[in-house]
Amino acid sequence: MNQWLMYINGEWVQARSGERYELINPADRSVAGTAPHGGAEDTARAIEAAQAAFKGWAGLPAKERAGYLNRLADLLEQHKEVLAGLITLEMGKPLAEARGEVAISADYLRWNAGEAVRSYGKVIPSSSADKRLLSIRQAVGPVAAITPWNFPLSMAARKIGPALAAGCTIVLKPALQTPGAAVKFFELAEEAGIPAGVMNLVTGDPKAIGDKLLTHPAIRKITFTGSTAVGKQLMKSAADQVKKVSMELGGHAPLIVFEDADLEQAVAGAMNSKFRNAGQTCICANRIYVQRQVADKFMEMFKAAVEKLVIGDGRAEETTIGPVIDEKALHKIQSQVEDAVSKGARIVTGGKPIGSLPGNFFEPTILHGVDQTMTISQEETFGPVAPIFLFDTEEEAISQANHSVYGLAAYFYTKDLGRTIRVYEALEYGIIGCNDAVPTAVQGPFGGVKESGTGREGGPDSLADFLETKFVSIRI
Ligand code: ADP
Repeated sequence: MNQWLMYINGEWVQARSGERYELINPADRSVAGTAPHGGAEDTARAIEAAQAAFKGWAGLPAKERAGYLNRLADLLEQHKEVLAGLITLEMGKPLAEARGEVAISADYLRWNAGEAVRSYGKVIPSSSADKRLLSIRQAVGPVAAITPWNFPLSMAARKIGPALAAGCTIVLKPALQTPGAAVKFFELAEEAGIPAGVMNLVTGDPKAIGDKLLTHPAIRKITFTGSTAVGKQLMKSAADQVKKVSMELGGHAPLIVFEDADLEQAVAGAMNSKFRNAGQTCICANRIYVQRQVADKFMEMFKAAVEKLVIGDGRAEETTIGPVIDEKALHKIQSQVEDAVSKGARIVTGGKPIGSLPGNFFEPTILHGVDQTMTISQEETFGPVAPIFLFDTEEEAISQANHSVYGLAAYFYTKDLGRTIRVYEALEYGIIGCNDAVPTAVQGPFGGVKESGTGREGGPDSLADFLETKFVSIRI
């Protein structure tokens, strides 16, 4: 059984308290390993290590930092199977998806290694003959990163990549449920030769670790991916020391199928967007709007595709949909379905937890006739339930799609170019998939508007949030 340790200042350590906690495999509720239950004291040591290492790391030529990141990316790829196995063991996604997560994690490191050497400043025209003006960009300082359980490796890589590329050092707190892939990642960082103190890993008590990260003055930036509720708390605490924040929070993605869509493509997109990771991604379609003329056809094709999903332990190669993370998630999903049904929705397929399997499994579900009065139309589901709404006009679809406090991802399917442009301009979301259910790319700025967060990760400006701009005015 895996007995993880924390990584602080280049050493593998237990929590100071000596406490450990158990990790539960969601596919069969067995104990998958244990990890240190770290707290404030461990976090303080990690922050001090990041602080001590900062000057040296930020002072390296960018090319050297890029070299470390590229080496680490190579190591991730060489250890793909082990990493994928740990992701699946601790959070349940099918192995094929876990392998994809490892691949994109290596890509995040490589992309940011490429950006490290292009962190340009500017020479700015002066308005007086005796002055020269310029701006340079410098690492913001030691960074705290808090990551969720649904992508235990790629969320860490998406934060560590740009932080290290920019010259920041880091303290990572992975999700309580899924530290394993992060621990392995840090073992590989050590193997890549990344100096002690540059990357530190603390597992355990979210509140105690989070509070220390936010109140310690050495931490200059916090990058968080998780729920909107926790994100709001962190933003409030960060305000006390005016720490920079990047927040990638909850979502409630609409997916619109217009009457002129390629229905096969739309069904494949809805399947991918809704059921990938058992519906547990922040960009999962949470509301599927279908134009009335094509609703019957779409439903028939969608139902057939959903019923082909192979439910099971993600470690079995044939599995295409795994469990949800825990029993609490299972209950939340069930209560959303019951609420919708009590208000008039109809279950087309699925609809309940799978009692015959030992883990946290919920039947892949389609709900028809969903409307705005139902909880599922407003609250993130994070589970394999596809609610179908009908609409008549483009305006109606846009207005309903925008009717959410969230603004992370939105999708639509159409073959009409004019409509494509009108709709992507009108949707109040940070990420849009036009006939594309998989808009995540290392080259693309990822992040949301409204209560889905602030800041962008990845893309051509991926380092920007980890850098401060310093303006220099020189009188000659
Ligand atoms: P989810 O509902 O997806 O688990 P959370 O926002 O609860 O989302 O978790 C995302 C990350 O935030 C995890 O690493 C979790 O341990 C951490 N977290 C939860 N509560 C706090 C807190 N009070 N302070 C700091 N981090 C927290």
